[in-house]
Amino acid sequence: MPNPDKHAGHPVALAPPAEDLCLAFANTRYWRGRPEPTETLNGFGDLLEWLESKSGSAPALIGQARAWAAAEPAAASRAADEAIEIRETIYRLFTAIAAEAHPTQHDLDQLNHVLALAPPRARLIRRAHGFGWAAHDAVPTVPALLAPVLWSTADLLTYADNRRLRRCANEECLWLFMDHSKGGTRRWCDMNSCGNRAKARRHYLKHKTK
Ligand SMILES: [Zn+2]
Repeated sequence: MPNPDKHAGHPVALAPPAEDLCLAFANTRYWRGRPEPTETLNGFGDLLEWLESKSGSAPALIGQARAWAAAEPAAASRAADEAIEIRETIYRLFTAIAAEAHPTQHDLDQLNHVLALAPPRARLIRRAHGFGWAAHDAVPTVPALLAPVLWSTADLLTYADNRRLRRCANEECLWLFMDHSKGGTRRWCDMNSCGNRAKARRHYLKHKTK
């Protein structure tokens, strides 16, 4: 049997993704409860920049994708739409989990579909500190680019402690986060911004009706 490493060159270890990378990806669209939410991924270039800074994707893959997008702008625009669709599936899946509801079969099927197209997570290699998944030589397809996000999504869905997953109680915000508080009673993504704003609003409404 041929040794695949002989053909693949030196595999590089992917940098470990930040904790809850899947939630960070879902939150790239925010103020979701407002009439006009804030969209930070406006095109394929934005997606690559986000992946480069957050996901620990293989730099070679990002570089390849960038060159491809420059040569095929229309296809790159479609790829960005595809990535956004996956992001929205992830957001809906976790919104259901946060509400202690069952995600729809359709969303689960969509996730399984792209997971199956992502490169295999088959081999660990040592990094300077700790370990990383070996990056495969991959064509820069959307599932390959989003692989760390997809793995993070699957890991969080199968993680027993995903009961700690919350959606911010500020109805304008709707950001997803993990509640690491001791009592597990955190309701807002950030007490300093969302929590205080929600309290001020309740205070305002209460006094307005008097
Ligand atoms: Zn919030």
